[in-house]
Amino acid sequence: MSGYTPMIQQYLSIKAEYQDAFLFFRLGDFYEMFFDDALKASKELEITLTSRDGGSQDRIPMCGVPYHAAAAYIERLIEKGYKVAICEQTEDPKQAKGVVKREVVQLITPGTVMEGKSLKENENNYLSSLEREEKHFALALTDLTTGENTVVKLASIDETVTEIYAVGAKEIVISSGFSDIILEQLQKRCAVAVSVSDEDELTEEIISYAEHISDPLLRKAFSRLYHYLKKTQMRNLQHLQKVKEYKLQQHMKIDLYSKRNLELTETIRSKDKKGSLLWLLDETKTSMGARMLKQWIDKPLLDPVEIDKRLNTVETFMNSYFEKEDLREKLKEVYDLERLAGRVAFGNVNARDLTQLRRSLEQIPSIRELVGSLKHPDAARHAEKLDPCEELTVLLSDALAEHPPISIKEGNIIRDGFDEQLDIYRNASKNGKTWMVQLEQRERQSTGIKSLKIGYNKVFGYYIEVSRANLPHLPEGRYERKQTLANAERFITPELKEKEALILEAEEKMAELEHQLFLQLREKVKTFISRLQSLAKTISELDVLQCFATVSDKRHYCKPQFTADEIRLIDGRHPVVEKVMDSQEYVPNNCLMNAERNLLLITGPNMSGKSTYMRQIALTAILAQIGCFVPAKEAYLPVFDQIFTRIGAADDLISGQSTFMVEMLEARNALAHATSRSLILFDEIGRGTSTYDGMALAQAIIEYVHKEIGAKTLFSTHYHELTILEKKLSGLENVHVKAVEDQGKVVFLHKVDRGAADKSYGIHVAELAELPEQLIQRAKKLLSKFEAAGASITREQSDVSAPQTIYPEKEQLSFFHEEEGKQEKAPSKKEMQLLKEIRELNILEMNPLEAMNELYRIQKKLKK
Ligand code: ADP
Ligand code: MG
Repeated sequence: MSGYTPMIQQYLSIKAEYQDAFLFFRLGDFYEMFFDDALKASKELEITLTSRDGGSQDRIPMCGVPYHAAAAYIERLIEKGYKVAICEQTEDPKQAKGVVKREVVQLITPGTVMEGKSLKENENNYLSSLEREEKHFALALTDLTTGENTVVKLASIDETVTEIYAVGAKEIVISSGFSDIILEQLQKRCAVAVSVSDEDELTEEIISYAEHISDPLLRKAFSRLYHYLKKTQMRNLQHLQKVKEYKLQQHMKIDLYSKRNLELTETIRSKDKKGSLLWLLDETKTSMGARMLKQWIDKPLLDPVEIDKRLNTVETFMNSYFEKEDLREKLKEVYDLERLAGRVAFGNVNARDLTQLRRSLEQIPSIRELVGSLKHPDAARHAEKLDPCEELTVLLSDALAEHPPISIKEGNIIRDGFDEQLDIYRNASKNGKTWMVQLEQRERQSTGIKSLKIGYNKVFGYYIEVSRANLPHLPEGRYERKQTLANAERFITPELKEKEALILEAEEKMAELEHQLFLQLREKVKTFISRLQSLAKTISELDVLQCFATVSDKRHYCKPQFTADEIRLIDGRHPVVEKVMDSQEYVPNNCLMNAERNLLLITGPNMSGKSTYMRQIALTAILAQIGCFVPAKEAYLPVFDQIFTRIGAADDLISGQSTFMVEMLEARNALAHATSRSLILFDEIGRGTSTYDGMALAQAIIEYVHKEIGAKTLFSTHYHELTILEKKLSGLENVHVKAVEDQGKVVFLHKVDRGAADKSYGIHVAELAELPEQLIQRAKKLLSKFEAAGASITREQSDVSAPQTIYPEKEQLSFFHEEEGKQEKAPSKKEMQLLKEIRELNILEMNPLEAMNELYRIQKKLKK
């Protein structure tokens, strides 16, 4: 460090403590960055890179942002997953001897932002920490904006990744000794910033939050998180709530793949909320409600009693239309109490926030009355939990002016009559101003100058102004000259200055006093934090329940009933597809399954609606278990403990795993964890590999599920040959999605019926996609040949487990020679196989990347 100026030395020693953050180093009116920080920040923020002399030979790279505009720049860095350490001057530069003292006052990280655009209103912002002990993991989560603290024990890395993904944690804190392999997995599969912190000592303070948590690993995870918060925030964390432990077994388990596949909170392709179940459901009126809705979707319930409580409330709202609409109107007026409580503790609320708090609280008594009057006890019981915090409402309405400014230093915050001393100052100022008005009138009269006026500016204070034209009428020596303008003169008198002093003094004291009073008020609000938090919780619940009622009403959903082992859905629909297309066009379908009939094998042409049908069953189960009505005319369902899916050819490109590997991982997950109370959706499993390979696997999987698991299973397949399994497996039934041919074209009816589909309509789909006519004709011709060859074999076949030879050698030759009519080398068996695979590719269901991957795979095989 030697050779550098003292200030740069100071910079370097502070920077050494914050290696992984941008250090915003306060220099006068700017935050400056130096060295590597400057190089990187100038690029990321697109600001000019300069340099300065720092005492050493080379100039030091530097860039900076003005302090008053810093928030926007900080936000951009946080959004990109960086951390920012704010380093302020902590002594008055005028008083400083040598270099001004500087200290980091806050470390802002993706998991600890309290404001700005990166903080989404409708989503929690979680900071997490992870501990590992052999196979077990402990995850602690804090939303600093709401003060919510939770911990959960997890049994595997898969469960852990799923949980981190599902809650959408922004940042994860781990010890420096944490396993690299696991960390790599985490980073690959969840977009989460990583922070290392080794402090995990269990202090008194931490125990006070977590005394009821007995598991030492969970305590340790929370300890690490808490120390990290203390270290980064360096301020009051009074709004943090007692740690709550939740257990995965308390909720329906849906693994990471299935959550993505079912598009619960975002779509697979665009990662947008639009098109997801959350998007369909979100009729909440408050951001607290929207956040809770997301949590509920993520954690469907298992206890039918709890589910029924929710359903009953939803039903009650549906039967009380006017009350529900009234509630919706009132909820609109309710501010984000939860985040407000957090900001109160942080000490950064202004008077406007508190006015909004007042307005929100004013809604509570009437909401309480309204909810209390609802017919069903499950609905009405919410009223008791609505604490209107009357003392706080009274305090805020007594204390706060009707329309206070944002600034808390310029007065006009406190209402008249709230504080005696403030009223005295206000009167003094008011009287002084009245005196000025009277003076103006008096002087106009005695001088006869009608345009004479009293004015005020910051430099000269109060003055009397006389226009140049009127100057001759002014008696000599009446006032003291102060300022000359182009067409007027300004004057003062000793009496004027005397009054001015009184007014200004009163105003200055007023502003100071109001600031003090406001700070006191804020301290008082702090004592209500936990009451506000529990009020927020009840409001959120009501908001989500009215939201369910609103959607169910609008979309004509029915109340689900829970059964021991039966699924009976009459006229069920896919909630999102139905919304997206005109609901008139959606073809409703039934689903009937029970203990004896727990495996449906679904066949049908491409694009007929197999995937949609399967998803609709899963989404219906999830809707039922979060307590919402479901898209059907009648719905009887068991309570599912878990849902597993393997849907479509979605490729987990981010993690770099191949389609087929993903397919197998998802299948393994289902087979390893499903129980007889689970729901499994296998959509065209085995498609990612060669035909026989895939078909063999598909059949083996069906048999395994049938024999070993007994879960309710929907299995769609393009392997027609599998439909024969109905004869072999007692619990399996064939259903198919109907399509008819109309004048040589396929028409999808989207209707699910008993029995197997009889034909592959692939060529017709190709026709719909307008492939060249010549090609279509050729394909039709080939198909009939293949069918003729295959049919004889299928007929003889009693057990499908042996691969079939659908393409006899003779056919292979003619395949290439017929059209060209000239001799060419016959394609090898491998080439034939690849051609067949190309023919079977489901191009309409692939995105360009998937298609490219597939092409790459085929080319690689050909080159071998
Ligand atoms: P498959 O899996 O059989 O190839 P999909 O389930 O992907 O078919 O459905 C293809 C398209 O058909 C869907 O995108 C949807 O637009 C439409 N569709 C599916 N089911 C229905 C239905 N029940 N009613 C109306 N349209 C449907
Ligand atoms: Mg499909």
